[in-house]
Amino acid sequence: MDSEDPATDIDESVIKSIEALANQQRLEILVALAERKYDGKAETSAMSFTQLYDVVSCQSTSQFSYHLKQLVDRFIIETEDGYQLTYAGDKVRRALFSGLYEPSHVFGPVAVEGACPNCGARALNADSAEGRFTVECRKCVTPIVSDLFPQSIAQERSTQEIVDSFGYGIWAKYLFVRGGVCPECYGLLETTIQQLEREEHSMGVSINECRRCWFTVSLPIDVVVAFHPVVIEAFWQHGVSLLDTPLWELFEYTTAENWNTTVRAEEPFAASVEIILDDTEMRLAVDHQLSVTVLQKTELR
Ligand SMILES: [Zn+2]
Ligand SMILES: [Zn+2]
Repeated sequence: MDSEDPATDIDESVIKSIEALANQQRLEILVALAERKYDGKAETSAMSFTQLYDVVSCQSTSQFSYHLKQLVDRFIIETEDGYQLTYAGDKVRRALFSGLYEPSHVFGPVAVEGACPNCGARALNADSAEGRFTVECRKCVTPIVSDLFPQSIAQERSTQEIVDSFGYGIWAKYLFVRGGVCPECYGLLETTIQQLEREEHSMGVSINECRRCWFTVSLPIDVVVAFHPVVIEAFWQHGVSLLDTPLWELFEYTTAENWNTTVRAEEPFAASVEIILDDTEMRLAVDHQLSVTVLQKTELR
């Protein structure tokens, strides 16, 4: 984390930017520019003063000009062709459309496939609580998966489709983590590994925290091993496409008898993992930087 404390070190320009958004006409300007930008038939993504004035509800040109000025250089830019959205302007508009500022969606509980990594019971429920999506074991009441619940994930989807979407969303975040990239702001992630002691199955968990925005993704190191191409291939031969298998269903494999993870060292972290899948026996090593190497692969027959 940076040495300055972001909580007390908020720049005046940031406050001005947020203030600039709290107005109907200014949000309408962002939406109008987005409509133009994503209109496949429009020649340019820019709009002139007059074009914008015609579509935004404003009483006078002087009032409109004032609102426009509040957005320039932050959320829109003025070019030779006219006004255009900046990355920040489009991001605010996307947040608006995604329902970020609307009340949380209520969902579940609903039974989902997979086994509890703590007690092994096939008794998992997906639910929503405090704006988060959760998967919990009904038997030992252990939370297994927790993720942010964006409003738009629930729109135009059935309950099962919502659950499936979280499965893909988690893997998308995992891909960011693989590259050391924050899925929220693209900042740099810092990875630490902790050993999580559970009743029957202790597991190594990689905690990946963004140095810039503090967004954190925690995932079992078994996930990193599962996504090594050699393991992906063995799963594919076994009839399972890993990217289409949500995290909570993957636990059924990582906690099974034929998947053994042994922590070799804690500081720095090192573990070895033995997996037998049908006729394939694999031995892999994971280090503190989450790099995975194949130590051995044997076809049993
Ligand atoms: Zn359980
Ligand atoms: Zn971040």
